[in-house]
Amino acid sequence: MFPAGFEYYRARTLAEASDLLKAHPDARVLAGGHSLLPAMKLRLASPSALVDIGGIRDLAGVAEEGGALRIGALTTHAALADSDVVRRRCPVLAEAAAQIGDLQVRNRGTIGGSLAHADPAADLPSVMVALGATLTATGPAGERSVPAGTFFLDLFTTDLQPGELLTSVAVPGYGPGTGGAYLKHRHPASSYAVVGAAALVEVSGGKCARVCLVVGGVQATPVRAEAAEQALTGQVAGETTVFRAAEKVPEALDQPIGDLYASAEYRVHLATVLARRALARAVERAKGQPG
Ligand code: FAD
Repeated sequence: MFPAGFEYYRARTLAEASDLLKAHPDARVLAGGHSLLPAMKLRLASPSALVDIGGIRDLAGVAEEGGALRIGALTTHAALADSDVVRRRCPVLAEAAAQIGDLQVRNRGTIGGSLAHADPAADLPSVMVALGATLTATGPAGERSVPAGTFFLDLFTTDLQPGELLTSVAVPGYGPGTGGAYLKHRHPASSYAVVGAAALVEVSGGKCARVCLVVGGVQATPVRAEAAEQALTGQVAGETTVFRAAEKVPEALDQPIGDLYASAEYRVHLATVLARRALARAVERAKGQPG
């Protein structure tokens, strides 16, 4: 498996990367290369040029800004999983990153690459939607912010415009009394999520004050299970209410994907089971963090 021929450019700064993308409209950005290079080898993508952003140091790392985390697009999955500040302020993100692929994939793959690639089987997109993250894109028209909830448009399709780079992600840290959990049914060969569920629950006075539940891997983009969220909000934080809420997950899944690995019906079933377990774990964790 060999890719078609291409030119290779290594950008040292964001400005240089933007200029290169402008000069080569057919070019693709290269970050960790763990999705793009396999696609090129399979000839699913044949860009005329690659703009390698891996050397732009400003784009990597996690910083705490007020109550939020600003995560550079080049931050690897391994760095997220191991980061003290991520584990402390937003543990569900570290939990999800630690479940990506294997160590080699986590050492090379980046959060920016994962979000820009928008693979329905990826783990971070649904976690970003659940967390209410905001993505920053930089391009010919300057810098703009996009909520994670509107960033993913279709299979492998995002709101990024031609010439734009995803430069960072702002993730709100948890408030007091909040617990989160990410669970997936992993594909046995690749570890990608056949289905994943990200839950965030704020418990106050023994009741679920705020609930966010997002399912990935079932449809083209991450899906918020709004009926389930509403069913749990305001209810006692317990096993029975979580069970009843999770039963409403299929209401959000009107276009489930079926393929060689799992039928559409099985994916919806998995989503319901994983959502129940993720909600239950998030509730337990929230109870352990009194507000
Ligand atoms: P690249 O492959 O370099 O790029 C991917 C796409 O995004 C390209 O189109 C590229 O042009 C674009 N891009 C990259 N960075 C930017 C940017 N900053 N701005 C704009 N566009 C950009 N993922 C999971 O979520 N869960 C898994 O379990 C999992 N298992 C895997 C197992 C294997 C064996 C492999 C090879 C991959 C696996 N992945 C998994 C995918 C992995 O996480 C990838 O690293 C990730 O999806 C893409 O990140 P990257 O940095 O490698 O991006």
